[in-house]
Amino acid sequence: MPYFGFKGGIHPKYNKSATQSKNTENLPVEVGEVVHIPLAQHIGAPAKILVKKNQQVKTGELIGEAAGFISTTIHSSVTGKVVSVGTVEHPIGGRVPGVSIEVEELTEDYVPIDSGDSFQKTVLAAGLAGMGCATFPSHVKLSPPKDVDALLINGAECEPYLTCDHRMMVERTEDIVKGAVIIKEKLGLKILAIGIEKNKPDAIEAFRKFEKEYGFEVIELEVKYPQGGEKQLIKACLNRVVPEGKLPMEVGAIVHNVGTCACIYDAVELKKPLYERMVTVTGAVKEPKNLMVKIGTPISKLIEYCGGFVGEPKKIVMGGPMMGLAVTSLDTPVMKGTSGILVYSESDLPDLTQYNCMRCGRCIDACPMELIPSAMDRFVVKELYESLADWHVMNCIECGCCSYVCPSRRTLVGGFKTSKRQVARILKEREDNKND
Ligand code: SF4
Ligand code: SF4
Repeated sequence: MPYFGFKGGIHPKYNKSATQSKNTENLPVEVGEVVHIPLAQHIGAPAKILVKKNQQVKTGELIGEAAGFISTTIHSSVTGKVVSVGTVEHPIGGRVPGVSIEVEELTEDYVPIDSGDSFQKTVLAAGLAGMGCATFPSHVKLSPPKDVDALLINGAECEPYLTCDHRMMVERTEDIVKGAVIIKEKLGLKILAIGIEKNKPDAIEAFRKFEKEYGFEVIELEVKYPQGGEKQLIKACLNRVVPEGKLPMEVGAIVHNVGTCACIYDAVELKKPLYERMVTVTGAVKEPKNLMVKIGTPISKLIEYCGGFVGEPKKIVMGGPMMGLAVTSLDTPVMKGTSGILVYSESDLPDLTQYNCMRCGRCIDACPMELIPSAMDRFVVKELYESLADWHVMNCIECGCCSYVCPSRRTLVGGFKTSKRQVARILKEREDNKND
């Protein structure tokens, strides 16, 4: 398949060299340490708790069940005792319901999942949610109510600094392919392709070795952010445009991150639930690394394992610099969607003084969703939510390209994010009025 590309996008400094060639290390677990596992690690309803204080749990044991269709299961990442059922730190919600477990025994064994009688039930039992930070429950994505014909594997990893997907592509190539082939066969799909940015030639080469044997295609992607955005990847690889407000299945496509495919392989072939993940720890730490981390491990432990901070940290981000979330506590635990921990020192942070829009149009050129961020910004400032709805703010994928290129340092994406709740309410009212 040719590379069709997509409009807009930016070319930030990628800053991946500190970790892109480093093999993944297992972050050691010690008896007596405590993991804090949130019940809300995915989009949708938080899981319903299944354990009580002082209960013994084993690695991989179910501790939370899905609370509805758009939800998923949660498992213990260690073997030990539940020391608290209450709240734990969360990067978005302050504190959220969660379970704290003290490690009592070190083991590589895990409780195998009860697979159920369908592929989707196996995926649900394993607690899979998009590993590329979107955290949409995977069993939902794998139950499309419409005909789909194409599975795209997202190996773009276009966020600067992050390299855990890159390492996974090199270190677990065949497992990713096998996971993808399982999806293709279970859903009866015709097209299977993996898109990888050209700045990862070793990953491209690794997958090319399996292309013929497993019947898929490697598509070399232009190095451009947000190449890994679902809609951008579909446009670039399949030349299909997902309509506004619709999901990829509308154009017959499903997109899964490389990490999710490896987890599908683990769930189906090894009956292993999702209780650990790869995380890139980078920026102002002494020894940046790619780590395999038990879910629930506080980020302080990752930073300590990487030699500690270089100088005084000014900002810590969970995820990448473009779409990650700033965390305020080092107790915040690693979750299913945590792809990176990025530490900024003072000198890394730009001057954030904002100036008036000079109508240069750079944000419009950069927007991969073909929106007009400068106009939307004016509506945000004046709280004109009806106008924001009319100018399609709900189509904003919050990629941050507009803010990145703005010479006036307008905090464009921040305003769009925070306005969406009001705009969603307006759109619902409009829909209700239409149906009256
Ligand atoms: S954050 Fe939204 S408005 Fe800004 S460039 Fe990305 S999609 Fe466009
Ligand atoms: S990039 Fe910034 S200054 Fe230029 S038009 Fe957009 S909002 Fe205005």
